[in-house]
Amino acid sequence: MKPKYICLPPGKKSIDVIKRDRKVSSPSLTREFDFVYKKAKGMHIYDLDGRKYLDFTSSIAVMNAGHSNPAILREIKKQLSRGTHAGFSDFYAELPVKFIEYLLSLLPKKFNKVFLSNSGTESVEAAFKLARYRTGKKWSLAFEGAFHGRTMGSLSLTQSNKVQKKGFEPFLQVKHAKFAYCYRCPWNKKPETCSMECSADLKKKVNENKGKLAALFFEPIQGEGGYVVPPIEFLQEAQELCIKNGMLFCADEVQSGCFRTGKFLASETMKISPDIVSMSKAIGGGLPLGATIASEKIMDWPKGAHANTFGGNLIACAAGHAALEFIKKNNLQENAEKTGKIMLNELEKLKDKYELIGDVRGKGLMIGVELVKDKKSKKHALNERHEVLCKAKEKGLLLLPAGKSSIRFCPPLIISKEEALKGTDIFEDALKEVSR
Ligand code: PLP
Repeated sequence: MKPKYICLPPGKKSIDVIKRDRKVSSPSLTREFDFVYKKAKGMHIYDLDGRKYLDFTSSIAVMNAGHSNPAILREIKKQLSRGTHAGFSDFYAELPVKFIEYLLSLLPKKFNKVFLSNSGTESVEAAFKLARYRTGKKWSLAFEGAFHGRTMGSLSLTQSNKVQKKGFEPFLQVKHAKFAYCYRCPWNKKPETCSMECSADLKKKVNENKGKLAALFFEPIQGEGGYVVPPIEFLQEAQELCIKNGMLFCADEVQSGCFRTGKFLASETMKISPDIVSMSKAIGGGLPLGATIASEKIMDWPKGAHANTFGGNLIACAAGHAALEFIKKNNLQENAEKTGKIMLNELEKLKDKYELIGDVRGKGLMIGVELVKDKKSKKHALNERHEVLCKAKEKGLLLLPAGKSSIRFCPPLIISKEEALKGTDIFEDALKEVSR
């Protein structure tokens, strides 16, 4: 086994902050390499020692409208002089209403009710509670490889990395079915021999729990699980199954939503129609904001059944509204689709060239590259992934891991063709060095 590559240390100022951080921050945070943020603009982030990096992370799929976007900053500043917090659970305020109205205008017509919160996990938590409340059923289904958050309800749905759940039992009533992870088909099928065993498995799980299930929770494209894109038919069959069994079909679009895949929701890209949608990350334009979305028929619960302190925060809503408007006005969804295809194509070429790349998959600017020891064994290339991420960073490109040995490519949607090609070139240089 190769020795684990040690990333080159960052500059002195960064090292100082890292040392102080290690003394006081919870050690549970998941830092892949030593990077200390100082400032960011557009497609670039600068570290504390003044180095500039091309950002292919969007600070974890958040900065879809680009860093320090002037249109967003203008609205934040405007609202700052008027007040920061209105207590939206107890008082009415126009800004959160305007945000909700705009959010709904981007969604399929059937959605007309929104619950606002502050994070992805809260947006899933609200969906989970709503599904149980509406159906009166205790159990839910979710998928292996899924990441829905880390509070106790959403953590019960999560089934991605063992460390996220170990020591936190007991969980709420959730069963997990296999996801359509075709590159690593749990039934060892190839596209030519596939008979949608994953759909049959899901059906079996539903039948085993007949009458007990409130909902099926799913990510249209698994995020933390490795940027895994299932076949459209898998999700369509899952939806049919939910309709037949009176279960709510709950899409977690926290990472895949907000135009990342070329449409506002990845569910639209995948031609499915969920009953409840959970969103966060990019919809806040860089501020903490979560939204749980449903029709009034489903989001019909009494006063006090669910509320919070910070949902509808004025600064978050000002930023979120400006971010959504900016993306829409500048047609960035089209850019996500177009530039995403260019990147996917470049990465496919690298797959043919390098043994280390087992799979390339994605929609729009949500692209995963899975690294393997070799194409035949498909063994996860754990150390190699770390090395590639470190080397890419040292060469000025920020990338993040996903799943066991995948790398996610999720740049801000403002990315130009030139920046996409520059980033894939740097990635290739890093790959080349690690492949030696
Ligand atoms: N759901 C999905 C699909 C996510 O990717 C994440 C975070 O990565 C979450 C939920 C949890 O969001 P948060 O970290 O804001 O609680």
